[in-house]
Amino acid sequence: LQSWVGFSNLPNQVHRRSVRRGFQFTAMVVGESGLGKSTLINTLFETKLYAPKEYPPPGVERGKTVQIESISADIEENGVRLKLTIVDTPGFGDYVNNDESWKPIVDNIEARFDAYLEQENRVNRKQLIDNRIHACIYFIQPTGHSLKPIDIEFLRRLHTKVNLIPVIAKADTLTDEEITSFKQRVLADIAHHGIRIFQPPQYENEDEETIQENEEILSKVPFAVVGSDTLVRAADGRQVRGRAYPWGVIEVDNESHCDFVKLRQMLVRTHMEELREHTNDVLYEDYRTDKLRAMGV
Ligand code: GDP
Ligand code: MG
Repeated sequence: LQSWVGFSNLPNQVHRRSVRRGFQFTAMVVGESGLGKSTLINTLFETKLYAPKEYPPPGVERGKTVQIESISADIEENGVRLKLTIVDTPGFGDYVNNDESWKPIVDNIEARFDAYLEQENRVNRKQLIDNRIHACIYFIQPTGHSLKPIDIEFLRRLHTKVNLIPVIAKADTLTDEEITSFKQRVLADIAHHGIRIFQPPQYENEDEETIQENEEILSKVPFAVVGSDTLVRAADGRQVRGRAYPWGVIEVDNESHCDFVKLRQMLVRTHMEELREHTNDVLYEDYRTDKLRAMGV
């Protein structure tokens, strides 16, 4: 199997001991219907995913309006094992009254924290199953204007519970200039509302190449993504994953066409371990502390 995902770089990302045990990594996609969530999942992982037998995960209930669906893959690269799960949330923003669209998603994320906490409290806690959400990819409609109230509400409710990674959906529907200015407006909105999106820690003793690679990735946030699960023929005759227009082809895997490659790099190659760490050390820890305090422990 070719190194198609690239997570075998994980040992360099931090812990050696996890390599033997294997990793669990779970990402969630959220955004209004039709923004390309399902397509992006397929684009990220092609056909490598399957619907797990265990459904839903233990202790996780399905929301009443927004559905929660997950697919997983057990993959191995260069001796590193990874159980990768992608959680899709169809139904978000589809209702006349979307005031509480975020609620089933918060409930789901918290139920996963609870399931983990429950395992930690067991006497025999050798093999903890980590179904916590390590990253939440939030799809922003490519309006070119600014964030919508439903976006702001979601991001504000979720930023203390999960690593938020905002993306601009269907970036092929905007020009390069529109993307640049839309990104600035989105970031300004995020700052204005005091929303914390995932910020990787800056290490000082990194080599120059790593620092540069990280800066490259961060400079693309919010990632302007294009998804496609079909091949099209580029002008030079190559078969590429992309979307064809009368004026040409937008290539998913071409970094000068969109930020898809950078998003994938961040998720699986450069920042998977940091996403896991921040989830465990900060987001989960805060949740756990509050919970235990509320219980009077
Ligand atoms: P979901 O409801 O968020 O899961 O959206 P889907 O993945 O089902 O996509 C909805 C429609 O948008 C489909 O017709 C896709 O082919 C199309 N689509 C998905 N991604 C893109 C994209 O990046 N650009 C464009 N132009 N269309 C896309
Ligand atoms: Mg879908």
